Amino acid sequence: IRTVSVGLGDRAYDVVIGPGLIDQAGARIAPVLSKRKRVAVVTDAHVGEHHGERLAVSLEKAGILVDVITLPPGEETKSFEHLAELSDRLLALGLERGDQIVAFGGGVVGDLAGFAAAIYKRGIDFVQVPTTLLAQVDSSVGGKTAIDTPRGKNLIGAFHQPRLVLADLDVLATLPARELACGYAEIIKYGLLGDFSFFEWLETNVAKVLAGEVDALVRAVGRSVEMKAQIVAEDEKEAGRRALLNLGHTFGHAIETEVGFGDLLKHGEAVGVGMAQAFRFSASQGLCPSQDAVRAEAAIKAAGLPTTLADVRQVPFNADALIAHCGQDKKAEGGKLTFVLARGIGDAFVAKDVDRDALRAFLVEEG
Ligand code: NAD
Ligand code: ZN
Repeated sequence: IRTVSVGLGDRAYDVVIGPGLIDQAGARIAPVLSKRKRVAVVTDAHVGEHHGERLAVSLEKAGILVDVITLPPGEETKSFEHLAELSDRLLALGLERGDQIVAFGGGVVGDLAGFAAAIYKRGIDFVQVPTTLLAQVDSSVGGKTAIDTPRGKNLIGAFHQPRLVLADLDVLATLPARELACGYAEIIKYGLLGDFSFFEWLETNVAKVLAGEVDALVRAVGRSVEMKAQIVAEDEKEAGRRALLNLGHTFGHAIETEVGFGDLLKHGEAVGVGMAQAFRFSASQGLCPSQDAVRAEAAIKAAGLPTTLADVRQVPFNADALIAHCGQDKKAEGGKLTFVLARGIGDAFVAKDVDRDALRAFLVEEG
């Protein structure tokens, strides 16, 4: 078991990573609760079915009063409608300021339940128990919570840090392989953006991580969380350095918008293409050695992730449409295109004024 601390002063919290944590959840969560020891567990139907009983038993054994709210699985649940329904159910339960929400699921549950916690009675504490690889290495850490609107993803939300994160590696055993690969995209992102030796370790150990070997997972999830925790502690509200975490995400988001959000293309897959493109674009601009772009692409591909536009759609993409989506991303500032580019593997930087013509030529070339 590995514990990483997110150093945010009096709001600091631990991310605990390891096998068997669900069964210890009661004992680990009880100390961060008020005297009344009451929680509402928010989960989705998949996670509830596989692991809900074990979590409830563990919490109750620690003398915690538990109510479980089960939501439908899927991105559509991150909506105003479900937020309203969830808030109403929390009110009906009589959840009070000193009580807590336990977000038990993937990023969808974490983002929605976290946002509900941020605004319920002007804010209550919450605990993240992430159950997807993506949620364990990314969405459960850092305090970004949000819902989607028809105008875009994650546009309505709040910064609200959890009190504790419990990442149980055992629950990943029931996760579909495709979801594991999507989580891996975010893991390799950390190596690509800032840790060359972690990247090299991933090149050798990708199969072990995807096979769910505990030692490999502890290292992969642990190092990812450590890097995210450090960046978040330095730049909680994304004024600067935190933007590095968007490596592959501007291209990725544009591709997702064109293909349409859903099962056709998952976020992690779009990010796989986006990261490979960020390296190829950096190489095309003479910023990064081209062998680094080739090596980055091979490592992404090794996890079964797509790396080119042709991998994700047979119909060619329109370069101008992609650029328009890049510009509309909420991370864009004042019409200028902001991208995370790289000087090499493990050395990403935020480029604030990317030339549109160069970008267009690159995307036309990419097809
Ligand atoms: P998800 O929550 O939809 O989970 C994916 C699927 O796996 C769902 O069907 C879910 O029911 C199922 N599932 C979850 N855990 C399982 C388990 N242990 N066994 C079997 N099935 C399981 O998707 P996700 O990829 O975890 O999260 C994506 C969301 O996270 C997006 O909405 C994205 O915007 C958000 N996100 C947020 C942040 C952040 O910083 N807040 C960062 C990255 C992504
Ligand atoms: Zn992502």
